[in-house]
Amino acid sequence: MTTLSVPALATGAARRYVVADLGGTTLRIGRVTEGSDRVEAVRRMATEGLDRHRGASAQDLQDRVVEQLTRELDAYLATPEGSGASAVGVSFAGPMTKDGTVLAGPTLWGGPAAPLPITAVLGRRLAVPVVVANDITAAAWRYASAEPEPFCLITISSGIGHKVFRNGEVLVSDSGHGGEIGHWRVDPREDAVPCECGGRGHLGGIASGRGVLTAAHRAAAADPEGFARSALTGPAHGSPDGITNQDLARAVRAGDAFATRVLRGCLLPLAMAVNCVFTAIGVRRYLFIGGFAVALGPRFVTLLGDELTKLGCFGLDEQQIRAMLALGAADDDHCLLGMARMLAGTLPAAAGSGGGA
Ligand SMILES: [Zn+2]
Repeated sequence: MTTLSVPALATGAARRYVVADLGGTTLRIGRVTEGSDRVEAVRRMATEGLDRHRGASAQDLQDRVVEQLTRELDAYLATPEGSGASAVGVSFAGPMTKDGTVLAGPTLWGGPAAPLPITAVLGRRLAVPVVVANDITAAAWRYASAEPEPFCLITISSGIGHKVFRNGEVLVSDSGHGGEIGHWRVDPREDAVPCECGGRGHLGGIASGRGVLTAAHRAAAADPEGFARSALTGPAHGSPDGITNQDLARAVRAGDAFATRVLRGCLLPLAMAVNCVFTAIGVRRYLFIGGFAVALGPRFVTLLGDELTKLGCFGLDEQQIRAMLALGAADDDHCLLGMARMLAGTLPAAAGSGGGA
């Protein structure tokens, strides 16, 4: 992490940060006051990337996204809400090196484009110090002071990602590798289910919202009688392909046997991933965020705990195993609040003391 100098503040004034969450679909910008748990004055707009401009080249899309991000941050800093900010923090949906270079933006510009030194680019264009971090790294920072370290944050939405947080930092290599447990190959068979990255048998292709939905479609087609008796039949109008993630989550929460069986099958490889991280480096706290985990609620933790207990964790009893698993906050502010915590935790404590590097 580069040390930055920040503008001087009146004694006792809480610093304010402008934070942005740059995702494939939406760009959000807001303000967080140091010590606060709220994101204020949020602006939300469609990201000028792959979602909006299908057919454009990856490089063209990257240029559009950077231009939009810079323009919108510049404009926000000029508003009454944004003026006086000590720093800007941006969470980015893709792998980054430690020195702030984006290696890929699959949901933003698709295929390969030039490595993007995004922190330097924004730093040249904006009037305040800028820090850019991977989105799950940012999300992990949200829990940095509240959770016992080390802890592992796992996001379960259309894909799966993770980060391990320890001693004030997220454990990934300087070159940006790590934190991608969703692409761990848990099923080595040649015909294993495809992952959105192009690989096969990856955890994220099996235990994500998208993966569980695919499993439900297959199970319903393979077992018409079981499907007909399940709570999924009605909303899907009797068609296996009519099952949605929302209906699946609702059925699991209601205790539907068919939906629960499908989910259990998908949670086993996720439990294996937790088992492996615990066994390899001893992490004893796993926080789950992301749309699909939130939709399933406490039932997700119970069912995952069942699978993990069946596997066993070397040296732990069942109570200790189940105590390792918890849901994170059910809102969508992980990256924005996390970026503010990261800025507060990494910028110099004595504002205006200089010493930037
Ligand atoms: Zn993959």
